[in-house]
Amino acid sequence: MINKIEHIGIAVKNLTESSIIYEKILGAKSYKKKEVDTENVITEFFKVGNSKIELLQATSEESAIAKFIEKKGEGIHHIAFEVADIYTEIERLKAEGFIMINEQPKLGADNKLICFVHPKSTNGVLIEICQEII
Ligand code: ZN
Repeated sequence: MINKIEHIGIAVKNLTESSIIYEKILGAKSYKKKEVDTENVITEFFKVGNSKIELLQATSEESAIAKFIEKKGEGIHHIAFEVADIYTEIERLKAEGFIMINEQPKLGADNKLICFVHPKSTNGVLIEICQEII
């Protein structure tokens, strides 16, 4: 079951500059900033009601975020749906014919297990499904 849009991920070149923009838009400061070594990104989170904005800046040329910005420029990178049980959802989406980028959930930035659905199978939108680690 999909519960809600957990967050929208936005690829940025400069976290410091972008963070100021979102502080102004949302009228609030970010509540968390975290480096994810395994993904070569630094992330920064803003609360928006029940959802979040996740800014992502690459820390290496090898990062998927660096490659994304090179190809498409800065902007919306992914939409994340919160699910009750990520293992069940992965099986369900695979059975529906979606291509998973990783078939085993991995540890995300915000105390979550995450998994990505390939944009090839969603008409161009990178979709993340995530489950909070309790
Ligand atoms: Zn995300």
